Amino acid sequence: MIDLAGRTLLPGFIDPHQHSCFMALFEELLTDVGFTSYPTRADLIAELKALDAKLPAGEWLLGYNFDNLLQGGDLSMAELDGISKDRPIFIWYINMHDAAANSAAFKIAAIPADVGVLPGGGHFGRNPDGSFNGLVYEESAMLKFVTHAMPPITPPVFAKAMQDYFKASAALGYTATHEPGTIQPAWIEGLTKLTASGTGRLSASLMYENLKAAEGYKNLGIGAKATLFPNSRFSLFGIKIVGDGSNQTLTGAQTQPYLNTTQKGSPNYPPDELMKMVAEIKAAGFPVQIHCNGDATVDDALNAIEAAYGANPTTGLNRIEHSTMARPDQLKRMKALGVQPSFLMNHVFFYGAAYRDQIFGPERTAFMDPAGACVAEGLPFTLHTDAPCSPPGALRLVQTAVTRVCDVDKSVIGPDQAISVENALRAVTLAAAEQTGQGDRIGSLETGKEADFVILEEDPFKIAPDAIMGIKISETWVAGEKTFG
Ligand SMILES: [Zn+2]
Repeated sequence: MIDLAGRTLLPGFIDPHQHSCFMALFEELLTDVGFTSYPTRADLIAELKALDAKLPAGEWLLGYNFDNLLQGGDLSMAELDGISKDRPIFIWYINMHDAAANSAAFKIAAIPADVGVLPGGGHFGRNPDGSFNGLVYEESAMLKFVTHAMPPITPPVFAKAMQDYFKASAALGYTATHEPGTIQPAWIEGLTKLTASGTGRLSASLMYENLKAAEGYKNLGIGAKATLFPNSRFSLFGIKIVGDGSNQTLTGAQTQPYLNTTQKGSPNYPPDELMKMVAEIKAAGFPVQIHCNGDATVDDALNAIEAAYGANPTTGLNRIEHSTMARPDQLKRMKALGVQPSFLMNHVFFYGAAYRDQIFGPERTAFMDPAGACVAEGLPFTLHTDAPCSPPGALRLVQTAVTRVCDVDKSVIGPDQAISVENALRAVTLAAAEQTGQGDRIGSLETGKEADFVILEEDPFKIAPDAIMGIKISETWVAGEKTFG
């Protein structure tokens, strides 16, 4: 018996959608130019100029975390050419779906002036006169630059990045995180070695493009029963498809136009192609996770899932990632099919006001990330950070789900969608374990489960809701082993 002297014991936090490996590598290799470090456009431009002055000639200037909604609107080729016309510059948006590049970068990437939409939805922004404006949309377009820009990721670089990541993650109270699709099959062996002991658990899914490679791991345990790979804390869940883009740059696919525009965004795959892809994933025996920010993409995804899997398949639960603008009828349909949503609740914290005033208007924004409607419907759901698309940490998600407060102007976004502390905690513990096929092993404190838990300095059930994210993590334990504290 251990007296916690007033501290609070909870099941360890699980982030069911976090780009762990990307975040680790970005932090190791790129420069953070985000809102928290450079809150104004002037701060950002000054930093980019300082970086340009510091770097050796010819070396790429690579930044990440740029926030178009909070740092003064889209970057442009002209603006980046103002930093340097000779040095290639490539800046990732925090949403990870878009980037901005200067003319030197476009030259090296050799993008033809008449390029159209690439497979997977990649495309390039244009000025009114048809020339490139510097914006690069979706992964297939960004890869044209990244293959030239990224320094080589050697095994020691990767190992160091991941070790640092696991330490930082344990300090946030995480005992498990899920990497949705952004790992390469070739990294799996290294990840099993890195998670042999002393780290949190890492669950992952592979991209649809890697379906063949994923099939090689099937007998190690996937989907509904995602068992640990031998001598590791690594497990494989399902297959990921990126169905559309980001609402922040109007590339999530909607049934209604974005506020004050005629634009509705467009899905990354035509509906019949998505159907075919999902059917292949089902045939291979995996569950599917489809990224859908807009409600039009949710329709396409649910049609494809229903056609391929029917309701409540034994392969494991199918997930709609983000489900940001899911409609009430779509939540009902998810419930009937046994499909579950996962919400990026930090969007309410950072972008609630911007969504209301610039992107969707008040009525649609009030139903963004509709956790309250899920509770009313009896539809299980999870909360995630999508880090590095928003800062990691479960307690900010819990606080925001409970208060629905947007931190930028302190307004309340859709008070009807607020949920209880208990429901919010479930969404970052047990429900998240279930959404990664690990519900039989982790996610709750009960006999027969593995000893994953977090000790908090204060009790989130007793503290003021707007103070929850400030609670200090005291200790983190994974499989009975202390990983932080
Ligand atoms: Zn993501």
